This record gives sequence, C-alpha cells and structure tokens, in this order.
Amino acid sequence: MGDELRDSHGRVMRDLRVSITDRCNFRCLYCLPETEEAANFYRSKWDAVRNPKPASLEPIRYDWKPKSHLLTYEEIERIVRIGVSLGIEKVRLTGGEPLLRRDVPGLVARIAAIPGVRDLAMTTNGFLFARQADALRQAGLRRISFSMDSLDPANFKRLTGRDGHAEVMAGIDLAQRLGFAPVKVNAVVIRGLNDHEIESLAAFARDRDLSFRFIEFMPLDSSRAWQKDLVMPAREILARLQAAYGLVPVDQSSHPSETARRHAFPDGRGEIGLIAPVSEPFCGHCNRLRLTADGKLRTCLFSLEEHDLRPLLRGDASDADIAARMRDIVRGKEAGHRIGQPDFVQPQRTMSCIGG
Ligand code: SAM
Ligand code: SF4
Repeated sequence: MGDELRDSHGRVMRDLRVSITDRCNFRCLYCLPETEEAANFYRSKWDAVRNPKPASLEPIRYDWKPKSHLLTYEEIERIVRIGVSLGIEKVRLTGGEPLLRRDVPGLVARIAAIPGVRDLAMTTNGFLFARQADALRQAGLRRISFSMDSLDPANFKRLTGRDGHAEVMAGIDLAQRLGFAPVKVNAVVIRGLNDHEIESLAAFARDRDLSFRFIEFMPLDSSRAWQKDLVMPAREILARLQAAYGLVPVDQSSHPSETARRHAFPDGRGEIGLIAPVSEPFCGHCNRLRLTADGKLRTCLFSLEEHDLRPLLRGDASDADIAARMRDIVRGKEAGHRIGQPDFVQPQRTMSCIGG
C-alpha cells in the first residue's frame, strides 16, 4: 500500500492519461481556435454586462515542441510501467491528435504488454483512424473515444475548423465493425453553436448503440475566449434529454471516480454520459494523472505547476528514483480546480498540449 500514488487528500491515482503529441490536424473552436469564423463567433458573444471581452486576449502560444523534446515510445513505456507498479490500472493515449504520431500501434503493443494495464484506451478526433484501425486493434487497443460535436457537416467544420465529418463518421462505423467496445463519442457543447443538436446527437447514440458523452466547455482554449455563458450546464442538457427520451440513471455507486454521470435509454440501446467539470466538479473523486508529450507530469488539468520527468528519464535515474519522484508529485495534488472562483487562473498550456 505504501507504494501507491496517494495524495494528501487520500485519493489514490489509478488512471494515467498520456499525451503522445501536442500537434493536431484540427483547430477546434474550444481548443485551438484559429479560423476567422471562430474569432467572429467569440466576438459576437461579448457584451458589456454578462460576457465582457476577456481581460487578456493574448493567445496562448502553442509553438509545437521540437521532436527531440517529445518522449520516445521507450520513455513512455517506462513511465507507464513504473506507474503500474504504483497502482495505475488505466491508461489512455491522447494528444493533440495521437494518430498523427508515427507507428501508434507499436506504442499500443508495448503498453498492452505491460502486466497490470487493465484498461488501455485512446481518444482521437478520428480523422486518421480508418487507415490504422486494424493495426491498432491487432496491437491490443480495445476501447476508443472519438470526438464529434456535430452531425451537420457545416457545423462540424465551424466547430473543428476542418472539413472532416465524413471521415469521422466512417471511423466510428469502422470501430464498431472491428469490435472496439465500447465505442465512445465525446461532444463539447457550446451554447449558440451546437446546443440545438443535443437531441439529435443523443438519437444518433441510441440508433448506433454508442456511449455518448456530452462535455461542458472548460477554460482551456488557446485564445482564452472561454466565457461562462457559453457553457451548457450538464443539468440543462440532461433535462432536455429526459424530456425527449425519458433517460434512466445508471447505478454507478461502485465506480465513484467515473467522470460521467451515466444514463440509459429505456430500450437499453446506447448510453448518455454527462461530464460536468464546470458546473458540478468531481475533483473529490479524481484519480487521474497526466503525462504531457514532452514528459511533464500534471496532477490536474488546471494545474499551474508541472513536473518534468524528462531529465530523470534521460539522465541516470533508476526506476526507483522515478517512482519516488512520482509519489512526491502526487502527494502535492491540488484539492480541486478553481473554475468560477475569483482567483481562477487559466493554465499556460491548452487542452491540446495537456492531453484531454
Ligand atoms: N485530438 C483528440 C480528440 O479531439 O479527441 C484527443 C485530444 S482532445 C484535447 C481530448 C478531448 O478534449 C476531446 O474530446 C475534446 O473534445 C476535449 N476538449 C478539448 N478542449 C476542450 C475544452 N476547452 N473543454 C472541454 N473539452 C475539451
Ligand atoms: Fe485537436 Fe482534439 Fe484539440 Fe480538436 S480537441 S483541436 S482535435 S486536440
């Protein structure tokens, strides 16, 4: 027990999210907004009273990290192995867009082979999934989450900055045909942009028997244009879906660390999850730890401090030295985030760099 990754609030880390690249081929409005249309959307929402123009509109710079700063697959595997020896059970590969990195199936195979990894998953925008799907499955990937915020190709482009709706839909289909289970789909809901699609996205989840997650918009965008009024609170989403479909809550008492509040359709097909980090923070049960593509360990999405493991990996530190450092870092995990509090400070890194 002494070897666990336990923080000073009694929480034990079981879930490691590994960003394998900070690069991305999409420019999502809530993550790496870049298009004129995205800028116009935000501008149109500012008003003097409820939604003042953010104090700092300096975009967060996201110069891609030089390749030499990215952890190699050997280094990632080593951190995961050490993490597992300290009680990590779940590993999720993410980014940036993880499928932009070369030979991701090679990394999946390495991690799947580590005894003690009970659950290995990936989050992807899905654009490049089809060409690697088979190899990923063969390598041992069992679970996959796609991000798809709209069923309408034009709105999809507004949200992601790219024409890619058909490719992502094809990716979701293929993942189901290949037997990935469950196939999850995440949608960030932004008021005034895709909230009119909530019911149709849920209907899509039921028709295709998907696990669908609606996520609240968090202040982690590179343009720092997040505003509270753009967040659709999960309870509002749920009320609408209950009215439309009579959703039934799923008993989650044996999984307190799950971020999504899950609901089933009465006919048992598909599932809806609501992830409400802004309106109903779940920090008290958080068991997650994040490793950035350049080797920084983060104890929270919103941490202002991160801990560089790369010098240890590239120096002569032993596994025991790295394990001790990881235990120290986790001990200092913050009690929770401060979104909505007067002293909230958005971290320098954006979601694309931290790894969602
Ligand atoms: N590129 C991949 C993708 O989009 O699935 C993986 C990385 S992405 C950062 C992981 C998840 O974070 C996605 O589901 C995305 O929708 C979510 N995300 C990004 N920015 C967000 C924000 N500001 N608020 C809430 N979720 C966000
Ligand atoms: Fe890229 Fe994913 Fe961020 Fe969209 S959410 S810009 S796909 S990292």
